[in-house]
Amino acid sequence: MELTDLTIAAARTGLAKRSFSALELADAHIAAAAKARDLNAFITETPERAREMAGRSDARLARGEAGLLEGIPLAIKDLFCTEGVRTTAGSHILEGFVPPYESTVTANLWRAGAVMLGKTNLDEFAMGSSNMTSHFGPVKSPWTRRGDNRPLVPGGSSGGSAAAVAARLALGATGTDTGGSIRQPAAFTGIVGLKPTYGRCSRWGIVAFASSLDQAGAFARTVEDTALMLQSMAGHDPKDSTSFAAPVPDYAAALGRGVKGLKIGIPKEYRLDTMPEDIERLWRQGIDWLTAAGAEAVEISLPHTKYALPAYYIVAPAEASSNLARYDGVRFGLRVEGETLDDMYERTRAAGFGAEVRRRVMIGTYVLSAGYYDAYYLKAQRVRALIARDFTEAFQRVDAILTPTTPSAAFAHGEKTADPVQMYLNDIFTVTVNLAGLPAVSVPAGLSGDGLPLGLHVIGRTFDEETVLGAAKVLEDAAGFVARPY
Ligand code: GLN
Repeated sequence: MELTDLTIAAARTGLAKRSFSALELADAHIAAAAKARDLNAFITETPERAREMAGRSDARLARGEAGLLEGIPLAIKDLFCTEGVRTTAGSHILEGFVPPYESTVTANLWRAGAVMLGKTNLDEFAMGSSNMTSHFGPVKSPWTRRGDNRPLVPGGSSGGSAAAVAARLALGATGTDTGGSIRQPAAFTGIVGLKPTYGRCSRWGIVAFASSLDQAGAFARTVEDTALMLQSMAGHDPKDSTSFAAPVPDYAAALGRGVKGLKIGIPKEYRLDTMPEDIERLWRQGIDWLTAAGAEAVEISLPHTKYALPAYYIVAPAEASSNLARYDGVRFGLRVEGETLDDMYERTRAAGFGAEVRRRVMIGTYVLSAGYYDAYYLKAQRVRALIARDFTEAFQRVDAILTPTTPSAAFAHGEKTADPVQMYLNDIFTVTVNLAGLPAVSVPAGLSGDGLPLGLHVIGRTFDEETVLGAAKVLEDAAGFVARPY
């Protein structure tokens, strides 16, 4: 078996037994990434840093001081600030920005012994579902439709991370999920994507998009591997007042819990008329897998679901317009000189932001403006509270909720990209979860008619990642998803 085919769990065993060194493991991934540059998964590769970190891991392994992720090569979404390594957020406006600090989540990973392979491509400022809005160009999914070799999107916004893990360029990767940006690309590329509860991981040092929705999470090829990653990433951080001040449970231990005796909610509002038959079928299959493992499926109602996307597309741009005000040509990155200070701001922001980011800044500024604040922003916040209440009520009757992750399989470069609303619809099953701050995971569970991966989505109660992981593991075992992009 190639070293790049290992799971994180198997790599840990191999490293502990000295079957190979952390340096060999890093080198195998560095070589794989160099061969797969056509995917454009990485914005910045950091092979020297990877080899240096791997060398230190080997020394710690020899001394018997291995951390939970000792020697495990990971890819980092280029939205996490990494000390001394350029961080772009997929934008031109951060041109030349090299953070003098490390995000808490990545610092936690390095403390656990993980090795950084590089920074992965993403939609600009994590705004998108296709990775087509990156200043550094689109990412190509390692998958293609059967009998059709047009390049497909890996999903977004964490498309580079998802493509890297699916193509065996990294054993795991970080992502962030504001409305679906971990789960949708995981579903499109046939890997596992875990979005923890809002507050489970610190947001400190992650370039902010929509602060009340953003949450860091993990991509890997198995549920167990995402549990190992979350174990290292999560925890209270005094630098983020929204991070949760409670001990992190043992996630790996939760994997064996199963679903026996659990009630699994099936929300009737998620049954769309427009949904392709293969996704309907997979959803029914998922219900059967969970019931065969001892769960009881219960139909539930989440009545405000249809307002989730409209509410999200007010709240998220509002927060984005405020967060992105800091990119003024003075403090970070790009500056385009002008006649006056205002002129410099305008030129810098016009040159630095792409079309989708400008659209969001304009929508956000509009909905926050004095005359429209009540009509849009306040109304959206009220709708958000109703959506959260739908879930609270549902979770009085059920322990977890099962839905498809996405309403379609991956699409081709250029498909859907002309119409922003078409693009926004990708997140119809995932944004509700961010609005309510809940944990959720996407598990690869089957293939579409044209041979592309499809994901099932398990949603849990606040801070109950353990039940989510337990149910995800049951789905993973039942699905036995072994298809590979190549
Ligand atoms: N696709 C959604 C958006 O464009 C969500 C992105 C994300 O989760 N970062 O806003």
